[in-house]
Amino acid sequence: MRGDRVGLVADPLELKLACPVCAEEHTYSVVVERSEVRGLVPGRKAPPQVKRQFVRLFNCPTTGNRYQAALQLSETAANRITAVTVRDAGEDAE
Ligand SMILES: [Zn+2]
Repeated sequence: MRGDRVGLVADPLELKLACPVCAEEHTYSVVVERSEVRGLVPGRKAPPQVKRQFVRLFNCPTTGNRYQAALQLSETAANRITAVTVRDAGEDAE
């Protein structure tokens, strides 16, 4: 097969944050979408990883307040991040 193929890959992560509002820990799920370029020439060095910072709003389930936190994610030229979405884990908060 020849040619590059671009696909979207969603990459769900579980994230624990120490909440600055109520000082508890909350769990969120973060969906990271990447555009994946296939068809790179075998034998070439893997492209270097770059760290990117994304600032997102998080909801404190205890107080209902929102706060901002920065996430650091790695990407390469072949695996760029196109979207970062935060979802409340919601249930079973203690
Ligand atoms: Zn909180």
